[in-house]
Amino acid sequence: MSSIETRYSELTEHIRELCDKYNRPPAQLLAVSKTKPLADIQALYSAGQRSFGENYLQEAVEKKNHLLSAGSADDIQWHFIGPLQSNKTKLAAENMCWVQTVDRLKIARRLSEQRPGQMPPLNVLVQVNISGEESKSGVPSAEVPALLGQIAELPRLRLRGLMAIPAPAEGLEAQRQPLRAMRLLYEQHAQTYDFDTLSMGMSSDMEAAIAEGSTKLRVGTALFGERK
Ligand SMILES: *Cc1c(COP(=O)(O)O)cnc(C)c1O
Repeated sequence: MSSIETRYSELTEHIRELCDKYNRPPAQLLAVSKTKPLADIQALYSAGQRSFGENYLQEAVEKKNHLLSAGSADDIQWHFIGPLQSNKTKLAAENMCWVQTVDRLKIARRLSEQRPGQMPPLNVLVQVNISGEESKSGVPSAEVPALLGQIAELPRLRLRGLMAIPAPAEGLEAQRQPLRAMRLLYEQHAQTYDFDTLSMGMSSDMEAAIAEGSTKLRVGTALFGERK
């Protein structure tokens, strides 16, 4: 087995163990393949992985089209997880299966308007600035309820839940605090909107995220190795 396949099977096993440990249903794994070559994606695809996350839209679309023209991997679910500018919404709407970083109505409206009619509705998550960092994207927690109400009205979007990138913290307890706040926010709105996705947890805070009920882990480094 190549090293990436080994890491993949070890990681999925590790996630299973953590979900058992915290009595959580199995969390899904989103493979964050930004900056990584097609060969890595193909290796994981062969090993059974079907969801991939990218931060740069151009890169995501190039990878998607390469794999499609190679005649393989047409059942990959592509997730956009980077900051989304309004001049890129069309590219996202036409190519992605999910956009996890919706944090304002203008972007959501454009995505809904630009989602092609022959495609299923675009899955979206609202990104929350849970640590209240000034420079970070995401909607402040206090504005989440209003934004959810507005996005739920948009016909070509399917609102699935919430996403966050908390400020880096050391140690399990410190990491769990913002993630717990996310879970509470998620639980407040889950029934109203029929949520099924709480996207949180990366290579460095996976255990904390599982402990707090993440349903979708976004893992890059622990799977593909360090990025340049
Ligand atoms: C890069 C990135 C990840 C993956 O981070 P790792 O630390 O490499 O696991 C997850 N989520 C987002 C939004 C990212 O940009």
